[in-house]
Amino acid sequence: MGLRFPKVYENIKSTSVFHNERGESMVKDVVCGMEIDPKTAAGKSEYKGQTYYFCSPGCKRSFDKEPEKYTEQAQGHGNHH
Ligand SMILES: [Zn+2]
Repeated sequence: MGLRFPKVYENIKSTSVFHNERGESMVKDVVCGMEIDPKTAAGKSEYKGQTYYFCSPGCKRSFDKEPEKYTEQAQGHGNHH
């Protein structure tokens, strides 16, 4: 009777976590919704004391133009589809 220990240690990919394998935090590009590493972000902006990171200069530009659009919480003032 041999107890089997199957090797279950495979490459586990975490796709929806905000930390990478070294425990570093990932942040969300609020413009396009992509998760990025702050250290490799293409741009960042500060708005109301909060720092936002972006995957590309284009996302940063969009944010800088209308930061409220991307930072406001869902206030339920009409839907915009
Ligand atoms: Zn982006």
